[in-house]
Amino acid sequence: MAGEPHEDCLFCKIVEGRIPATIVRETETTVAFRDINPQAPTHVLVIPKAHYQDAAALAAGAPETAAEVLRETRAVAEQERLDSYRTIFNTGAGAGQTVWHAHAHVLGGRGLEWPPG
Ligand code: 5GP
Ligand code: ZN
Repeated sequence: MAGEPHEDCLFCKIVEGRIPATIVRETETTVAFRDINPQAPTHVLVIPKAHYQDAAALAAGAPETAAEVLRETRAVAEQERLDSYRTIFNTGAGAGQTVWHAHAHVLGGRGLEWPPG
């Protein structure tokens, strides 16, 4: 069911502390932790604690938590002292989504090209 933990979900396991992660921030409804394969000097993932498969499903099912994820992307950027940063929600395998638990990538600390690849 939407929002319930999924037994085989990597990010649900990080939320539950069953898999270690370098957590940089936590709120009542979100967790932010460093990406294991960073693509920039700062590469942090902000996730809802509740399981939704992607950003749009999160916004539909728990809009206040979706807003909290966005607020937290800025809080991460401020904590990391980033003047500029990019927030990315990969949605679907063709766009590079590999973990089916909604997550915002926060990238910064280097020049970021536009358009992205
Ligand atoms: P996606 O490709 O779904 O947009 O992003 C998933 C992200 O999760 C990838 O950037 C990947 O490096 C990261 N990731 C995958 N497994 C782990 C893990 O066990 N720990 C952490 N911290 N990040 C992970
Ligand atoms: Zn999950």
